[in-house]
Parts: sequence; C-alpha cells; structure tokens
Amino acid sequence: MPKKIIVIGSGFSSLAAACYLAKDGNEVHIFEKNKTVGGRARQLKKDGFVFDIGPTWYWMPDVFERFFADFNTTPEAYYELIKLGPAYRVYFGTNDYITIGDSLGKIKEVFELEEPGSAAKLQEFIDDAKDNYDIAIKDLVYRPGLSPLELVTPQTMTRIGKFFSTIAKQVRKEFNNPRLVAILEFPVLFLGAKPSNTPAFYSFMNYADFGIGTFHPKNGMYSVIEAMATLAESLGVTIHTEQNVTEISTQNNTVTGVVSNDAFAKADIVLSGADYHHTETLLPSSLRQYSEKYWEKKVFAPSSLLFYVGFDKKLKNVDHHTLFFDVDFAQHAEEIYDRPQWPSKPLFYASFPSMTDSSAAPEGKEAGIFLIPLAPGLEDTPELRQQYFDIIINRFEKLTGQSVRDQVIFKESFCVNDFIKDYNSYKGNAYGMANTLLQTAFLRPNLKSKKVKNLYFTGQLTVPGPGVPPSLISGKLTAQLIATNNDN
Ligand SMILES: Cc1cc2nc3c(=O)[nH]c(=O)nc-3n(C[C@H](O)[C@H](O)[C@H](O)COP(=O)(O)OP(=O)(O)OC[C@H]3O[C@@H](n4cnc5c(N)ncnc54)[C@H](O)[C@@H]3O)c2cc1C
Repeated sequence: MPKKIIVIGSGFSSLAAACYLAKDGNEVHIFEKNKTVGGRARQLKKDGFVFDIGPTWYWMPDVFERFFADFNTTPEAYYELIKLGPAYRVYFGTNDYITIGDSLGKIKEVFELEEPGSAAKLQEFIDDAKDNYDIAIKDLVYRPGLSPLELVTPQTMTRIGKFFSTIAKQVRKEFNNPRLVAILEFPVLFLGAKPSNTPAFYSFMNYADFGIGTFHPKNGMYSVIEAMATLAESLGVTIHTEQNVTEISTQNNTVTGVVSNDAFAKADIVLSGADYHHTETLLPSSLRQYSEKYWEKKVFAPSSLLFYVGFDKKLKNVDHHTLFFDVDFAQHAEEIYDRPQWPSKPLFYASFPSMTDSSAAPEGKEAGIFLIPLAPGLEDTPELRQQYFDIIINRFEKLTGQSVRDQVIFKESFCVNDFIKDYNSYKGNAYGMANTLLQTAFLRPNLKSKKVKNLYFTGQLTVPGPGVPPSLISGKLTAQLIATNNDN
C-alpha cells in the first residue's frame, strides 16, 4: 500500500531515495533545512562566477548511468558530460609536476619516465583494480550491509587478503618512487581514511581514476543535483526547502512524523539523509541506537577549509584539477587523524572549472576552488582561515610561477563551523565516516533503525560510504529496504 514518506535532507542520497520511493507509488515529501537543494553539493554564485561548494570530481560515470537507467532515462537527457584531458596535474615542487592524462596509455608513459619498469607494473595494478571494481561497484556496494555474509562471494573469497592488507602496502610492494606512490594513494583519500588504514580491496578507486577517467558535468556538479531534483519532481516528489526538522515524532517506538519549523507533519515512514549522528539527536536518547561514545570512536573523514575565489585574469600552469603534494603527506595525515591540529604544512587541492567550462566565470577571468583537508572538530576562526589562505596562495604563486594575489576579486570561505551550521555535520566532517576495514559494509551504521519502527537512514555515514556515487547507491539501498520491509 502507498505510504506517506518524509525524507529529511536533499543531498544526493535523499534525492536518490526519494526518486525510487516515488516510483514505487509512495507520497514523498523532502524536508530540507537550507534555501536550496543539494546538501554538500550546493552551488555558490557570485559576480558572474559559479562554484560547486562541495564535490568537484565526477568519477564512476557507470553509477550515474545505472541510477538514471532505473528511471528509463540517461544522464545525457539532463546534463552534458565532458571527459577531462588531462584528468589532473600533481605538483611536487616549483615548476615540477606530473600530468595525469585521459587514458591509461598516456599515464603509463608518464610512469615509465619517472620509474623505469613501472608502466608494466601499473598495467598489472590497474588490471587487478578493475577486477575489484567489477566485484565491488557492480555488485557488493549494492548490498544493504545487513549481514557479513553479503561479503562472502566466490570472487571475494579469492581476494580475502585484500581486505586485510592496506592500499599503502599494496602500492609500496610494486612502486618505489615516492611521487608515484603519492599519486596511487590519492584516490582512496576520497574514502576518508589514511591509505595505511584503507583495505587494499579499495584499489578499485585507482581503476575509477586511471581506467575510467575524470569527468566534468557542464555547469558543474550542481547540474547533477538539478537533474535529480527535476527527475524527483517528475515522479511526484514534493520538495520543501527551508524546513528545519527539529524532532522525529514517535508513538510506541513507531514513527508518526516530524516536527519542522514548529509544525507537526504526519508520516508513515521517515527516512533521513541528514548526518546520521544528527538524525539520532532528533529522537529521545532512549530511542537512539548509537551512543556519543560510539561516534567518538569512529574514524571520520576529514573536514576542510575551502576558498571560492574569483580571479581577475586567466591562470597559467594549472589544470582543471590540480593537486599540491609538495609537502610531506605523512605529517599532514598525522595532523588529521592521530594528533588533530591545524596542519603545519598543508597539502592542498585546487580546481579551476572555468578552464573547461565557460559558464563558471566571466570571460577573461578564472574561478578557483581551494581545499585543505583538516581534522574534524578543530577550532575555526576568521584569523585561522586568513592565515591558511596566505600560506596556500604564497605556495601556489611560487609553485606555479605566477602572481595571483593582486588579481583576487573576492574570496569566500567555508570551514568546520559552516559544515556544522549548514548541514548539522558531526564535528564539521566534510564527507562522512571513513571506509576503514572496521567501518565497511555491515560494520557501518544501519540503514534501518533497530529501535524505531519505520525510521530509515541513508547517506554518506551509512552504507556504502562517502562520495557522490556511494550516496546515489545508498539512496537506492534504503528505498529497496523500505519496499521489501514487512513491518511497514
Ligand atoms: C568539500 C567536499 C568535497 C567533496 N568532493 C567530492 C568529490 O569531488 N567527488 C565525490 O564523489 N564526492 C565528494 N564529496 C563527498 C560528497 O559530496 C558527499 O559524499 C555527498 O554529497 C553526501 O551526500 P549526502 O546525501 O549523504 O549528504 P548531504 O549532502 O550532507 O545531505 C544532507 C542534507 O540534510 C540536510 N539536513 C541536515 N539536517 C537537517 C534537518 N534537521 N532538517 C532538514 N534538513 C536537514 C542538509 O542541509 C543536507 O542538505 C565531497 C564533499 C565535500 C564536503
């Protein structure tokens, strides 16, 4: 029988879930606290510049295709996808960088120049990563994390060692050159933990990177959010923005609705795509599944300090995606995970969407996004933000051999306090809970509440994990669970 379902939040996971639930014939209402949809993937527009506030790397296009195919449509029906060539550039010193091309053949040539013999090793590494990709992304991640047995398949049994070894060990077994090691460890940073704490099985991220490539949706990642919101509405979903849910209401341990903007809204089922920890605080403590201690012990993905900068000229010596790995990664990682503090020498990432997409900046100008990963929960003040802006802009000028400071028309920033204020994020984490071995699949917080009937969860803190493609999958998994659950 069709149900009235309230979905909290309008990030990728909530929008995906809402689409599936509406397709199943339910009456679906999204309640989003912010003015616009998209959650961490919202958009900032200023003085003719357009920035993605959160995600900028479009990886795993097959996951997006699979999502839209479930609704008999395609990504191209909604947005244009551009394959980036080169995919990205990594700086290791002044005028010293490695360019990652748009095909494995080109990348192998670059590897061979860096470390003779490494092209053949890279081919083997990527072949193995592709096998992991086929097992994980085509199958395993579409399992709801209800039981450890989900991970037991003929394919995974032959790869059991890959769950217990780490990506750091796997990479170092084959490659000695520290620059190649850094490049091969980069993709798993999207999963939120150190490479030395991420299972080797996650090398499927390397296949996503080198084997499939990096894409840019025209008008930015936000065009994917717009596509999903349009699809959701066409399926009958009603989107209510500026609806701040302050309570999940229950009777006899069963959901009755939510309180939003001081008004009660009735629902048969509530599904939250807001951060899991926050969602549970909307319940009395006796109905929460996880204690504060539980969350304290978890490995969270980093927070970030971000700058959105309008430059009054076109920049040189950078690519659409440019990484600055000219300082010691181990030290920065330690300052994120082991001894949380503002980094002494931060690695950083920069994106210049206007190099590919003229809609991102007025003619002759450049839109720049700068990101420094940080430990969640750090003190966040305007002075610290400015101090770190100065650090990275000085380095940027030196490494890329150009002056840019005087061409800054404006800069906006986003950091720990904004993640908390805008998204109710636990300690201001940027992208959820990391995919370590002990935080994989059935070991992650449940999609369905064990204490409150008809309460469900989706998003980057539950299965399968952080990132846009996993968020789409998470929405599908929860919707399937709702569709097949007998207690509704
Ligand atoms: C800076 C940054 C860079 C990233 N880069 C990439 C990348 O390049 N590629 C990639 O694949 N992934 C990237 N990610 C990760 C990716 O963006 C996230 O994993 C994904 O967007 C999370 O979606 P979600 O639906 O789980 O959560 P969210 O997008 O956080 O959605 C949760 C929603 O719930 C709303 N909400 C919270 N509390 C309430 C309440 N009480 N009432 C109503 N609404 C509420 C929030 O406003 C929000 O809209 C990045 C993330 C960040 C932050």
